[in-house]
Amino acid sequence: MTIPSPALKALQAVLGAEYLLTAEADRHCYAYDAANGLFVPEAVALPGHENEIARVLQLANEYRFPVIPRGTGTGTTGGALAVQGGLVVVTSRLNRILEIDPDNFLAVVEPGVITGQIKAAAAKVGLWYPPDPSSANFCTIGGNVAENAGGSAAVQYGVTRDYVLGLRVVLPTGEIIDTGVRTAKGVVGYDLTRLLVGSEGTLGIITRIILRLIPLPAARQTLLAGFTDLRRATETVARLLKARLAPSALEFLDRASLTCVRQWLPYELPDAIQALLLIEVDGHPHDVQERAAAVQTHCQEQGATLVLVAPTPEETEKLWQARKVLSPAAFRLKPHKLSEDVVVPISRIPDLVRAVEGISQQAGLPILCFGHAGDGNIHVNIMYDRREAQEQAAAHRAVKELFTVVRRLDGTLSGEHGVGISKAPYIGMELSEAVIALSLRLKKAFDPNNIMNPGKIFTTAGGRP
Ligand SMILES: Cc1cc2nc3c(=O)[nH]c(=O)nc-3n(C[C@H](O)[C@H](O)[C@H](O)COP(=O)(O)OP(=O)(O)OC[C@H]3O[C@@H](n4cnc5c(N)ncnc54)[C@H](O)[C@@H]3O)c2cc1C
Repeated sequence: MTIPSPALKALQAVLGAEYLLTAEADRHCYAYDAANGLFVPEAVALPGHENEIARVLQLANEYRFPVIPRGTGTGTTGGALAVQGGLVVVTSRLNRILEIDPDNFLAVVEPGVITGQIKAAAAKVGLWYPPDPSSANFCTIGGNVAENAGGSAAVQYGVTRDYVLGLRVVLPTGEIIDTGVRTAKGVVGYDLTRLLVGSEGTLGIITRIILRLIPLPAARQTLLAGFTDLRRATETVARLLKARLAPSALEFLDRASLTCVRQWLPYELPDAIQALLLIEVDGHPHDVQERAAAVQTHCQEQGATLVLVAPTPEETEKLWQARKVLSPAAFRLKPHKLSEDVVVPISRIPDLVRAVEGISQQAGLPILCFGHAGDGNIHVNIMYDRREAQEQAAAHRAVKELFTVVRRLDGTLSGEHGVGISKAPYIGMELSEAVIALSLRLKKAFDPNNIMNPGKIFTTAGGRP
């Protein structure tokens, strides 16, 4: 146990007995996320105010126990897991949209708000919060900021970081700071906001977020293009981007992925289809029509055997549902997966997809490739059965092989899911020793006693696999 009983007593006094969970059954509910691990925390805090969080962190320093921030636990790299025991701090009670300011195109929210609710509230006044992780209806904005979440709109509109103007953060030492601005621009001092976005809960607990909003596009059109040749499909991605058609989404699904979601698609697909592109354009209605027609032509010229334009908002929604259900639907193939979200330069996507086919054959395991092809971010899901030792070993070898290929193609190990615990052993494949050492010095400046989400991103081995 890392939390001694006097500390538990003090925590209870700060939070109230109702909001400090210590019963085993309660703690088990916070023992997992969307990665593969199971780590039961020693206690779970449900604070209702940032001052309570500040006090909790002061106690953590005094008694030296780990504190792990948590949204809704949809993270895929184990970031919210209590890998070294300690206290999980859940943001579910910090769930208010404090402000939507249509005159200044911004929103101020607490970290426990579900991302989809921010989108809905902004849409009511004709505004839009573009980042759109497939989990938007069940993940929190705090988790999105901590992971710098992306999603399908990133190809045109960027990722969470591009919409965070400012933050309120409780530092690991218990101080509360405000970073950033409420204005469109601002360059006073170091850009701590950008450092904190994507820091995976290792530098502080975010308690308030100022978000930039943009006008909601007047029209959208979604198209689906089916290819019998995988390579032609992946080459079409670069062609559509080079044609300056500015798609607001450009998603890719390979054949194995299609097998998992076929039943959710609103259309029958011929068996010969090897890959699908899901393409969206948005903007002014006339412009959208023109660009959708051009997308159709490009896809046909690339050899698409099927190009469909979703005729109604309902069918558009069904198409996107089929895409969004893909991650959980992958379990139809095998009970476990290693879920990677590598990024390569767009022109190298065909090389990556071909290499993954080879890795799959060598490992003897099904590997799905799908995701945000428009920005080169391909989700590679290695499916296996953990109960079979051989499959488990083959799956882990496949990850290492995948990362080797990705680095050879000038890519990065993660585009949006972060490092957490699952990629921590591999960061030395991407970051130099000097960068890791500087990062650890930064971490120490924020968190001198290493109480804040320890064991994440940087392992003691220095990130060397
Ligand atoms: C089906 C499915 C689809 C997904 N699709 C996408 C996608 O398209 N794009 C994408 O980017 N991700 C996607 N994800 C991953 C996941 O939803 C995101 O990483 C999301 O940002 C996590 O939010 P959360 O509230 O669940 O955070 P959690 O999982 O609870 O936590 C994630 C990390 O954030 C930290 N954290 C949480 N709240 C705070 C806070 N207030 N202050 C400081 N640190 C905090 C935690 O310590 C942890 O390190 C998907 C996940 C699933 C299960």
